[in-house]
Order: sequence, then structure tokens, then C-alpha cells
Amino acid sequence: MEAISDWYYEAKQLKGAMVHSLDYFKNEMNYFIHQSTIDPLTKLTNRRMMDSYMKQWVDDGTPFALIIFDIDKFKRVNDRYGHAVGDEVLIYLADWMQRTVRKQDICCRYGGEEFVILLPKSDKVTAYLTAERLREKMEDTVSPCGEVITISSGVGAYPLHANHPARLIELADQSLYEAKRTGRNKTIVVSDEPRQK
Ligand code: GH3
Ligand code: MG
Ligand code: MG
Repeated sequence: MEAISDWYYEAKQLKGAMVHSLDYFKNEMNYFIHQSTIDPLTKLTNRRMMDSYMKQWVDDGTPFALIIFDIDKFKRVNDRYGHAVGDEVLIYLADWMQRTVRKQDICCRYGGEEFVILLPKSDKVTAYLTAERLREKMEDTVSPCGEVITISSGVGAYPLHANHPARLIELADQSLYEAKRTGRNKTIVVSDEPRQK
């Protein structure tokens, strides 16, 4: 009788330890999966995850719109106030992005001071209005460097403007650069005609 209860006790302990380790590894794995999808500075969705959302929507046949934008004359902020203050400005902008969009929209850090907002099931008009709301907010608010910063945006929609996310980004980026070239602090939508592949 004693031998059986010893054996039972050990088996129970072992099972408890295994369940505990599995839970621990599951939590660790979820943590690392989550970390691999976010940008550490701004806590926005990173580019890898952004690509994966768009791929999923294309596979599902879900239309979407996107805004790509870039801070105007950001190099000057770094030069005047230092890189750490520049980083504060990026965090401030990321916070305003999150507060400006709907809850289904996805705010991403595309590169250094370039950002993308993905708007699932939205058209170019909704994306344009969202970009303008954020642009006006920036224009009306003093950033952590003590100056107003402005942004220039390009807006495009899938499948209206392109059949592939990479092409849509390319076209929206061209609109963004047109906004830069023609004075900055503005939003330009990809033109509908002629339809570009
Ligand atoms: P434009 O209006 O044409 O966009 O001018 P710009 O000065 O913003 O453009 P430019 O590409 O010359 O400079 C971008 C700057 O963004 C240069 C780079 O040091 C800065 N930058 C990129 N990533 C980061 C970052 O993570 N933190 C900080 N503080 N600065 C960054
Ligand atoms: Mg840039
Ligand atoms: Mg810039």
C-alpha cells in the first residue's frame, strides 16, 4: 500500500511539473510571437506584420485602403534637439495615430520616420479623411520638441489602384513624394486613371 502511494505521489508531482513547464513555454512563446510583430520604440505594428495583414486580406478578397506618411523635415528635429527628442516625437506621433483611427485600423511603423495606416474594408475617401484628420491634428499641436511637426501623406486603395500590396505601396509612396515636392503638409490620393497594374 505504501509503495503504491509513493509511486502515485511522484507521478502526480511529475505531472504537475510538466503542466507548469508547458504553461511557462506557452507564455514565453506567445510573448516572443507578440514581440516579433511590434516596433519596440513606438509599439506600433511592424512592417513584417503589416505585410502579413495585407497578404491575408488579398487572400480573403477583403478590400482595404492605406495611408503612407512621412514627417516633414524630421532631420532638422534631430539636428536641433538631438536623437532622443526625435524619438519622443516619433512616440508622440504614434500615440496620435492610434487616437485618430477606428479600432479596426492598423497603425504601423514602416521605416524610420515613415508610417502606414491600414484601413480594412475602407475606400480611398475614408482613408483620405483619416489622413487629413491626423495631418490637421499635427498642425494644431505642439510636439515634444517644442515645435509643431507636419506630415505628408499618400493614399491608395486595393483593388482600385493596384492588384498587389507592394504595387499599392509603391503608388501611394509616389503620391507621398508628390506631396513633398509640392510643398509638404498635405495628403495626395493616387489617381484612378489610367488604372495602373
Ligand atoms: P522630408 O521632409 O523630405 O521628409 O525631410 P526629412 O528631413 O524628414 O527627410 P530625411 O530623409 O532627410 O531625414 C529623415 C530623418 O529621420 C533622418 C534620420 O536620422 C531620422 N530618423 C530615422 N529613424 C529615426 C529614429 O528612429 N529616431 C530618430 N530620432 N530619428 C530617426
Ligand atoms: Mg523619410
Ligand atoms: Mg521625412
